[in-house]
Amino acid sequence: MAVIIDGKKISQQIKDELKEKVEKLRMEGKTGALAVIQVGADPASSVYVRNKKNACAYIGIESLAYELPEDTSEDALLQLVEELNGKEEVKGILVQLPLPSHICEDKVIQAISPGKDVDGFHPQSVGAMAIGEKGFLSCTPAGIIELLKRSGIEMEGKRCVVIGRSNIVGKPMALLMLRENATVTITHSRTKNLPEICRQADILIAALGKPRFIGAEYVKEGAVVVDVGIHRDENNKLCGDVKFEEVEKIASAITPVPGGVGPMTIAMLMNNCVQGMEEEPKA
Ligand code: NAD
Repeated sequence: MAVIIDGKKISQQIKDELKEKVEKLRMEGKTGALAVIQVGADPASSVYVRNKKNACAYIGIESLAYELPEDTSEDALLQLVEELNGKEEVKGILVQLPLPSHICEDKVIQAISPGKDVDGFHPQSVGAMAIGEKGFLSCTPAGIIELLKRSGIEMEGKRCVVIGRSNIVGKPMALLMLRENATVTITHSRTKNLPEICRQADILIAALGKPRFIGAEYVKEGAVVVDVGIHRDENNKLCGDVKFEEVEKIASAITPVPGGVGPMTIAMLMNNCVQGMEEEPKA
């Protein structure tokens, strides 16, 4: 039976470390706020936004909430981002995705100053990550790296297969695994022989966004399995991309849903906010 990787516990450790850091920074006169912008009232987004605000309160940083109506224009949103770019006390700007369809997400992401891009989605942040320069790392992939490190799972020289190539999970995940000296394969919806490729993985990262898709036939005996997916099943129960009960019997370690990758994403967002506070003013 696999070891269950406890993302809740590890993310709590990280938040406690950050809380101490924030207190120290405050004593040095360094403070800051995270601006959280939500357009519309999508219930799932509201839960994420609330969790982010709670995490800020826990580690002791201020959060500024901007709850805008669904019909907010792209121009109005871009103008708000521009204003926040110019405010020295704002160290991080987060625009909750998805945005309503009349607003171009890429345009909004690119309007955020890279020095305040705590989600790590700006092309400059992505470019810096790709070439190993300093910058904000995309929170979910960075959280997975931290989860593996803190669970004592070696990445160097290991075969890692990432399922999914999205800009926010799959691609940055592959780049960060490469940075850890893993041998990385990226797979996606057009990949042929997916089970066969996945069975070569020492570390299998499932981020395809399909509930309970990855069963035992995708997993090598003793592999480490990271489940990024989040879904509600027919009984309104949270589940991931992996058939947990089936895969835990053959994996050596596995992340559960909930309580695996999810809490780490928020912990890494907080880590990015604190990184923003440590740096020189950008406004
Ligand atoms: P996405 O839909 O943007 O991308 C999915 C990727 O999977 C695509 O690149 C696609 O090519 C690939 N894919 C789809 N079907 C496939 C198949 N049958 N075989 C192989 N590849 C396939 O999704 P995303 O934004 O990357 O998110 C993926 C999942 O992770 C979702 O369930 C999302 O809710 C979850 N997620 C969780 C967190 C977290 O904090 N835990 C954060 C972000 C996303």
